Formats: sequence, C-alpha cells, structure tokens
Amino acid sequence: MSMISASNIHKRFNNLEVLKGISLAVNKGEVIAIIGPSGSGKSTFLRCLNRLETIDEGSIEIEGEILADTDAAGKVHYAPEPAARRICRKMGMVFQQFNLFPHLTVLENLIEAPLTVKGVKREDIVPQAEELLLKVGLAEKRDVYPSRLSGGQKQRVAIARALAMNPDIMLFDEPTSALDPELTGEVLKAMRRLAEEHMTMIVVTHEMAFAREVANRVIFMDAGEIVEQGTPADVFGSPVHARTKAFLNRV
Ligand code: ADP
Ligand code: MG
Repeated sequence: MSMISASNIHKRFNNLEVLKGISLAVNKGEVIAIIGPSGSGKSTFLRCLNRLETIDEGSIEIEGEILADTDAAGKVHYAPEPAARRICRKMGMVFQQFNLFPHLTVLENLIEAPLTVKGVKREDIVPQAEELLLKVGLAEKRDVYPSRLSGGQKQRVAIARALAMNPDIMLFDEPTSALDPELTGEVLKAMRRLAEEHMTMIVVTHEMAFAREVANRVIFMDAGEIVEQGTPADVFGSPVHARTKAFLNRV
C-alpha cells in the first residue's frame, strides 16, 4: 500500500494552470526530494496533498483512504468531515517560514495542537514533547519564547512541533531556504535523522547535496509537470531531459 497516491492532479489559479496532471505514489519509509525552478508548482503540489489547496481534477489517497476523487462528470469530491481532517492529520508539514506561535514557549508550541486538536492529556504529551526537543537538540530551550531563538533553532522547533502530532508522513517545503547558510546544517541534520528512522518524507528543496545523499528518489518538476524522476544517481548523474540538465547546470 502506498502512503500517498496522487493521480493526475490538476490545479488552476484563475486562468493559470499550475499543476498539469501530476501523479506520484510514495511508499512507506521513502524519502522523496522534489527539485525544480521557482514557480514550477512544487509548493502548490505539497499544499494540495494536505488540502491547504483544493484540486481541480485528479485523486489523492493517503494510506489507502480517499481524500479527494474526481467523478465521471469531472467534479471533484472530498472526503466528508471529520474524515478529511483525520486523513490530513496523518501528514505533518514544515514551511519555509517557521510559523511558530510567538506568544507560546517552545514546549507550549509543541503541545498546543495535540492538546486542542487531538485531546491528548497534558501528562501524556509533555514527556513526548520533551523527548522530541531532545531529538532535535533543543531540550534546553523548552521554556524559551521563539523570539529568543535563531532561525535554525526555530525551524527545528517547527519540525518537533509537527512530529508531536505523530504523523505518518512529513512534508517539507524548502525548510532551509529562509536560513542563513551557517544554520542550514543543523536543520538538515534533524531531517536526516528522521529519514534514518524511516519516516516517509517529501522534501521540496534547493539543497542538492541533501537530496543526493538522503533521498531515495528525486523528482524534477518544471512548469507544473514532473519532467523526470529517478534515483539521485540517475537524476544528478545522468539526467535525460534537456530541462533537467539546464536546471542542474544553473544550481
Ligand atoms: P514553487 O513552489 O515551485 O516555486 P508555487 O507552487 O509556489 O511554485 O507556484 C506555482 C505558480 O502558482 C506560480 O506561478 C505562483 O505565482 C502561482 N500561485 C501559487 N499560489 C497562488 C495563489 N494562491 N494564487 C494565485 N497564484 C498562485
Ligand atoms: Mg515553493
């Protein structure tokens, strides 16, 4: 069974067709890197997977459950609530901008959603949150407010916060693009660790070294399409398409 099975995803913003029939199946424990030029639809694709954007055509299944489907007349149907929300909660997401709650401490940021959305008991979630902070190397920042953290630390908190919801899949949208170069390493290290623990991950990234070393599969998107995909050795070592070659020569 695929963890994610997206088929023929189309998405338009007004008259602009941003996704032109994207299909992608992700296996359990797979780490997928999505690369491609700015504006090619990478973020929109990730956002469609967890319903931050609705699709105009196609289907999305998460762990065998249908989130969205298109009928014979071309009309898209989403799973009804509360099923749709439950399905989307299987995916955690980390954004380029960390989106931490500024008025909450690091620990409170981690436990907020488990407490309010999932109804987990405080005494159950606090130890788990502390363990996650340890894992991303921020145990000592437990009671600090986000404004006191560096960008790299904020992003590691954002990763821990997503993990506190116990997702089966993690989606990363350029998690290091807003960081000073010297801070990217600590975030990539936390992600690498997650990959080593066999988390299923889709990572939109400009970090080609990370994609090469950590991803099982690299997907090159351009102008709303998957142009080429394969192992890192294939895509980086012997790209087939001219558009892939041109992109890799530029980065
Ligand atoms: P990428 O992440 O690959 O840089 P995006 O998915 O962010 O690409 O954007 C793809 C295209 O969709 C771009 O042309 C962008 O301007 C457009 N776009 C993205 N979000 C919106 C939106 N909410 N409304 C209108 N256009 C959008
Ligand atoms: Mg983007």
